[in-house]
Amino acid sequence: MKRVLLLATGDTIAHSSGPGRAAVASGAGLLETIPADAPAADVVVEDVMAEPSWDMSPATMLRLARRARSAILDDGFDGVVVTHGTDTMEDTAFLTDLLAGPAARRGAIVLTGAMRALDDLSSDGPRNLASSIAAAADPALRGAGAVVCVNDELHAARWVTKVDAASVSAFSSAPHPILGRVIGRRVEMPAVPPSRPPDPEGEPESHVALIKTYPDMDPVLLTAVVDAGARGVVLEGTGLGNVPVTLLSTIAELSDWDIPVVVASRCRTREVPLDDLPLGTGLAARVGAIGARGLAPVKARAALMVALGAGGRDAVRDWFGML
Ligand code: ASP
Repeated sequence: MKRVLLLATGDTIAHSSGPGRAAVASGAGLLETIPADAPAADVVVEDVMAEPSWDMSPATMLRLARRARSAILDDGFDGVVVTHGTDTMEDTAFLTDLLAGPAARRGAIVLTGAMRALDDLSSDGPRNLASSIAAAADPALRGAGAVVCVNDELHAARWVTKVDAASVSAFSSAPHPILGRVIGRRVEMPAVPPSRPPDPEGEPESHVALIKTYPDMDPVLLTAVVDAGARGVVLEGTGLGNVPVTLLSTIAELSDWDIPVVVASRCRTREVPLDDLPLGTGLAARVGAIGARGLAPVKARAALMVALGAGGRDAVRDWFGML
């Protein structure tokens, strides 16, 4: 039988909130919620103390990512399931994906959660957990990298976003396809996963800021985060990757100080380098900014954390070029 490690971090999938019943189930308690014959694998449980996911620190996200990697590479697990709050599941999923390196080729890494508490009518948690264990044990996921499994759908970490704060089908990979589905205990995976990112180098940097831009924005917001210790900055721009002109000279300064500035967009964008954009767009590239290669802003932040392990601005630029 396949061996799967379950890393449990609490949050809605583990919460009971009824009168006099407020409690957080441990990983072992969660396993008891699925029928005894449901697990498609031998499951070993580790409980990881964690903040609610909307407040999860980069340190906790990195800890989960490292444990998922070592479980496969060092401890011989066939797969890992992480139960996680849904708010930032995509952040941890992509960070884990970027740090998995060779573990992604040898085993499956599946993040799951729930939109309804454990004691809600028709809670989605037990079903999501059973499907995720089945997915983590299925060799079909080897090489796919970290995935999110919710509502029996499998989403690539690079593409997935929580798009609905109330529905059990809270996640979407649009405009990309969902990778596959869990049907019974089997994975059906008709879509081709995104290409694998470069293997990580060095230790990731956790102090990376993410700032949403708006026309006429004061550049002091950029220098403030750097003064507070940020080693890199992601800017959420507009359209193809545009940021206000008021920021350009500060972006140039930060680049000169070896603080990489990555520009993502609040829109879906293609993986076009900023330098290749039509005249008059993507101006930040002319003053040293690095394009986010179509990544959503939170994914670009995870990528910059990992890229900074490789070195300063030039190493980050090269690393993003391979994403
Ligand atoms: N409170 C949760 C979170 O922080 C919501 C959830 O667990 O799904 O993500």
